[in-house]
Amino acid sequence: MNIEAKELSKIYGEGESRVVALDRASLTIAPGDFISIIGPSGSGKSTLLHLLSGLDRPTSGRLTYDGRDIYRLTDKELSAFRRRSIGFIFQQFHLLPVLTARENIAMPLLLDKKQPDEPYLQKLAGLLGIGDRLTHLPHELSGGQQQRVAIARALIAGPDVIFADEPTGNLDSRSGGEVMELLKTVGKEMGKALVVITHDSRIAAMGSRRLTIVDGVLSEVGAE
Ligand code: ADP
Repeated sequence: MNIEAKELSKIYGEGESRVVALDRASLTIAPGDFISIIGPSGSGKSTLLHLLSGLDRPTSGRLTYDGRDIYRLTDKELSAFRRRSIGFIFQQFHLLPVLTARENIAMPLLLDKKQPDEPYLQKLAGLLGIGDRLTHLPHELSGGQQQRVAIARALIAGPDVIFADEPTGNLDSRSGGEVMELLKTVGKEMGKALVVITHDSRIAAMGSRRLTIVDGVLSEVGAE
């Protein structure tokens, strides 16, 4: 899946309260890319992530997934598209506390009235080192293990791209580093594109393509 964002802008408010949250951001994302985007608070990171993943619509600009114009879809079509093509990882994990690790992982499929492919779920759990934790509830797991469950959940529906918003923000630096290494390995092994938003320069340095965002202006600063 090739993703192409062209001159995406998002403007909030009018007159005195007008804020250009994102200023003509362009970006292409190819399979296997590991892209990090670093920027200070208020620079437009969440706005960009929401636009790239179709959670929000821009003031102007275009976004295509394999040539398909995403913003032309209805809200219903867009949410179905997101469930199948995009995985999300959040700072706060967002696991459901009353469900086991396995049930949390399978959740995106259940929402689509599908059953998980058991060998694939086992493979993911094995790769992420949580194979022996699948019957546990989230509060019985460490932060790093909870985030690995969330990574498995993001991958279970076989998405083309994963967007991660400060995925290590709630972890100590060691488990944060481990989670990022795993995410990178799993992404590579499965040919997924990975877009990680962070304000941590060590996490950003792990990206094979590194971008910055300052005052809504996105720039590519380096690549392997
Ligand atoms: P970051 O994720 O980098 O902290 P955001 O994308 O959340 O930055 O915000 C970028 C800018 O847009 C900020 O100045 C913020 O105050 C503004 N902004 C974000 N969302 C809204 C909104 N719904 N209404 C008005 N301004 C907003």
